[in-house]
Amino acid sequence: MIRNLLLATAAIAVASPAVAAPAPRKAAVSATLPASNPFAQPSTLPFQAPDFSKIKDSDYLPALLAGMAQQKAEVMAIANQAAKPTFGNTVVAMERSGLLLERTNLAFQAVNGANTNDTLQATDTKTAPLFAAHNDFIYLNAKLFQRFKYLHDHQAELNLTPEQARLLDVYYKQFVHAGAELPAAKQAQLKAMNKQLSTLQSAFNQKLLAAAKAGALHVDDPAALAGLSQEQIAAAQTAAKDRKVSGYVLPLQNTTQQPSLSSLTSHDTRQKLFDASLNRAEHGGANDTRAIIRQLAKLRAEKAALFGVSNWADYTLYDQMAKDRATAVGFLDKLAPAVAAKQKQEAADIRALAKSQGANFTPTAADWTYYAEQIRKQRYAIDSDQLKQYFEFNKVLQDGVFYAANQLYGITFKERKDLPTWNSDMRVFDVIDADGKPLAIFYIDPWKRDNKNGGAWMDNLVKQSALRGTKPVVYNVENFTKPAAGQPALISWDDVTTMFHEFGHALHGMFAAQTYPKISGADTARDFVEFPSQFNENWALDPKVLGHYAVNYKTGQPIPQELVQKLLAARTFNQGYELGELLEAARLDLDWHSLPASAPLQDVDRFEADALAKSGFDVTDVPPRYRSSYFLHIWSNGYSAGYYAYPWTRMLGQDAFAWFQQHGGLTRANGQRFREMVLSRGNTMDYAEMYRAFTGHDPSIQPYLDYYGLAGSGATAAGK
Ligand SMILES: [Zn+2]
Repeated sequence: MIRNLLLATAAIAVASPAVAAPAPRKAAVSATLPASNPFAQPSTLPFQAPDFSKIKDSDYLPALLAGMAQQKAEVMAIANQAAKPTFGNTVVAMERSGLLLERTNLAFQAVNGANTNDTLQATDTKTAPLFAAHNDFIYLNAKLFQRFKYLHDHQAELNLTPEQARLLDVYYKQFVHAGAELPAAKQAQLKAMNKQLSTLQSAFNQKLLAAAKAGALHVDDPAALAGLSQEQIAAAQTAAKDRKVSGYVLPLQNTTQQPSLSSLTSHDTRQKLFDASLNRAEHGGANDTRAIIRQLAKLRAEKAALFGVSNWADYTLYDQMAKDRATAVGFLDKLAPAVAAKQKQEAADIRALAKSQGANFTPTAADWTYYAEQIRKQRYAIDSDQLKQYFEFNKVLQDGVFYAANQLYGITFKERKDLPTWNSDMRVFDVIDADGKPLAIFYIDPWKRDNKNGGAWMDNLVKQSALRGTKPVVYNVENFTKPAAGQPALISWDDVTTMFHEFGHALHGMFAAQTYPKISGADTARDFVEFPSQFNENWALDPKVLGHYAVNYKTGQPIPQELVQKLLAARTFNQGYELGELLEAARLDLDWHSLPASAPLQDVDRFEADALAKSGFDVTDVPPRYRSSYFLHIWSNGYSAGYYAYPWTRMLGQDAFAWFQQHGGLTRANGQRFREMVLSRGNTMDYAEMYRAFTGHDPSIQPYLDYYGLAGSGATAAGK
């Protein structure tokens, strides 16, 4: 299963020091920040962790504006200096610029994503177009580009280390991609487009958050909630209380399927909840996102055309492992038949079961997980609620996620209570390296809140860089259902997997060992960044790890072997649906971003129906994991034309895990090798080369197909 992890690409897109700086507008912002602003100086807390106890919501805006002005001045000094370009006075100088902006923005992205409010949203609205302009200021700066071009052209004389050569190359291509080589008239057009895109993306995000909140299912009659556990009902009651309404509220998770659908016994309630999910952003009111989508798709195609590229997908995949649209589409096409065949089988099973139970309706997608869960119980005799008894949040975190990392990499964790957080439910840990030296600080924000974006993600609060002398401060955000007061924090198997997944990203950030911040840690291509996280999910089921954390919260008894065997056997269950909805979403994304600039504004519903009809799946049974109208990844979070990256990186993760299995599994030696050759490498080399160096071969799709129990005959290496 694919986690919703967003590697906070919104933050990456705007936060890295290299990216950023408004066009030379006179005195648009003040470069001076009062010393009383907590961002005026680097934080004095350990590892420069932001001091959330001192930061007020109103501190972000002035610090962001001053940060942009400051970096703008720094960039102009670099661009306008008389000295001949050198690696030091140009590339390194860029890497040293924008510190105020970066430290403010990393903290801002964290709170705005996980704990937002009106002030933060207003700050986001105000600064989003400024960031776009700031980015243009750097990457459309002709003088600055000429310095990078000079260095790029004279690279042979520079005697650069491999990391330096990669850094220069990344900068150079980014300039070209940003339009540095375009004629002036096109650059002016581009600036206007970038500003508009950024505003639209930000508006999409805010409308969707409001739409998801408003779309929650409100129920007064408890009978409608039959099938839910007492804990779930208590949580629904708490949710209603929080919203100051009577009865019960089932808040929407950001995917199409909703967790309660597997247990609600009323077809009517299931259908209502499912429809609420499908249509959350299509009610025609202030929260309807479709008008924004039409414009975004059109504008992106027009932007690609400015560069002479025929669609957005080809324009945007230039720095990915896949490198172009055709490769991404080809990869999906290769997977679709095996998945569709499995999905059809599953649909037949579900119809037969419903019929045998005398259902007076034809099961819809709303009923899918309800029956699938019963089939799961019949065939694998796994009861999700029974299973939960073995997954207490704290045990999973410390005796599972942390334990696996300790066994593989030798790192240890020590909780600390002194560092301020943005929410009192958060936990903070020192991460200590195998040699006893401090490595990183790790935060986790586990529970769902109305003011938190959906899904789960990782990002940095402080980036690792030897140049700056900074060590990583990393966080994970999840959206697990908060236990009602006095109840144990039992989480689902899905949640367990999410924790391992997000922590895989965290490791990628914590093991960063770069000199230069721009290419440090998890700031890697979208079709690579999910590789460490999907890989890390595998340890959740490793016998030694599982035995260590999966303990009954009441009795302390370890999870019975029989249950483990069933869990393993059940892993391939329902994957026709789950992969099907994923591949459909990936197809939807690539289709939206295959439009040529000449295409008219699209009717969103019709476009979606047409695209899905071509996907090779039965869309009535299996709607996409995200419909266009609530596909946050592609419209607002930097995954446009990149959602295919989830199955792509799953291929990498399973293939790399197969390497581990062939070499003795969970050992320090294997972990060390993976850390040295992949997790610590950031974006310092070509991804395909990095991958080959670790496994000794190009990625194979076979372990992926095996993992999901798909026949996969005739499948060959799909890597590129
Ligand atoms: Zn992820």
